[in-house]
Amino acid sequence: MDIGALLFLPVPVVLLLFTRAPFGPLASLGLGVALMLTHRLYARPWALARASRRCLWCTRPADAGSELVIEEPFGTTTWRACSDDHADRVRRLLGWAGAHGRFLKAGILGTLGIFLIAAVLTTLGWLGPLRHADAVAVFRLGIAATVLPLGWLGSTRPPEAGPLRVPFPVHIQALVGSWTVTWLFRVVGAVWLVQAIVHVWQRL
Ligand SMILES: [Zn+2]
Repeated sequence: MDIGALLFLPVPVVLLLFTRAPFGPLASLGLGVALMLTHRLYARPWALARASRRCLWCTRPADAGSELVIEEPFGTTTWRACSDDHADRVRRLLGWAGAHGRFLKAGILGTLGIFLIAAVLTTLGWLGPLRHADAVAVFRLGIAATVLPLGWLGSTRPPEAGPLRVPFPVHIQALVGSWTVTWLFRVVGAVWLVQAIVHVWQRL
């Protein structure tokens, strides 16, 4: 298994802890938050150390490809793509992300914040008839509504010619490649949207 894929593994594990709560809601939430907060400590240095030789789109060797300078929340970093085509694909995706930075930030951080609070309160029984599963449905709906547009519309935009300013750090997508992450957004986003709608339907 590729080390990048291994380092990406905490991301789906966190999502499973949040949505399936295998150790009960509170312990699963705590473990998920701890994994989420510590991920950057080892995943980001690993990705940055390989930023100049791994394609940000497909993860294949990119020693001679074009450079991609990206203004991330934690500072400006330089990455590389294996070909002009893959550099353009990154410029489309991140151009869309930069143009919709506020939407993406509100969608991801807002949903996460609401979910964490609602998950604790529903577990403690402080939200009346609302249950942990309802908080999970809100989480799935909010994340799906955010990543589906990015996944589908991010490829329709012309490649961004100016500086790439993104609202999220790019080391996570660098671990498995932006192409893989785009498809995860499309597929997981669609599944979560359906799951959230089915949940609301059943609750009504
Ligand atoms: Zn490539």
